[in-house]
Amino acid sequence: MMERLSALYDKTCTCRHCHHSFTTKRVRGGSQAIIQRDADFCTYYKEQSLNPILYTVNVCPACGFAFTDQFTQQLLPPVKRLVQEQISSKWTPKEFGYVRSISEAVVCYKLAIYAAELTGEAHSVKAGLSLRLAWLFRFQNDKQQEKRFLHMAVHEYEQSYVFSDYDKGDKEMSEVRILYLIGELMRRVERYDEAVNYFSKALELGRQSIETGILSMARDQWSLAREEYKQKNQEKIG
Ligand SMILES: [Zn+2]
Repeated sequence: MMERLSALYDKTCTCRHCHHSFTTKRVRGGSQAIIQRDADFCTYYKEQSLNPILYTVNVCPACGFAFTDQFTQQLLPPVKRLVQEQISSKWTPKEFGYVRSISEAVVCYKLAIYAAELTGEAHSVKAGLSLRLAWLFRFQNDKQQEKRFLHMAVHEYEQSYVFSDYDKGDKEMSEVRILYLIGELMRRVERYDEAVNYFSKALELGRQSIETGILSMARDQWSLAREEYKQKNQEKIG
């Protein structure tokens, strides 16, 4: 409990829609021991209730607009009207600024994905939200919901790659990294042909790259995708 109290702090946010000022929890960087990282970068902490992704989304308690730090700062008047109609007019004041359970965080992500659709955020922003939501379902061992949001994430990452907006959602995202990530997400939704294709693209591009960590991951996951693909075909025949 002490650990939890000292690892969380209050961050003050201003709502990008109604300008109401509110506080929301954040996890202090570096305060947590990492125990595992999946091939799609899903990270498990020793104390999972302090996983920073639980606190990525800010939800305005006054109007219901949910956003992350990656969202556009200013909403244009027509977008504001849309948010007013579709979100705020239907909102009953609710507080997400305290300690969050996984299910509460799930609600926050769904609100943010809806808001991102309405305000036309970059594909990379929507991709990042969908992927993190899929991880929350992975933590809860809900495979069906996890897959649903992995599908959404891989679609948005592909769009993000096509329109080259991938640095908007995540400053660390490079071309090699997004190709690798799309490959890995394709593998997880069992689209093996495309998975192998994206891993090859990542490796091809990686010849001139210094990101050797990603390249060796791409090689490993590429072989895994090929194995799984073979297995699946054998099941079909057998
Ligand atoms: Zn607001």
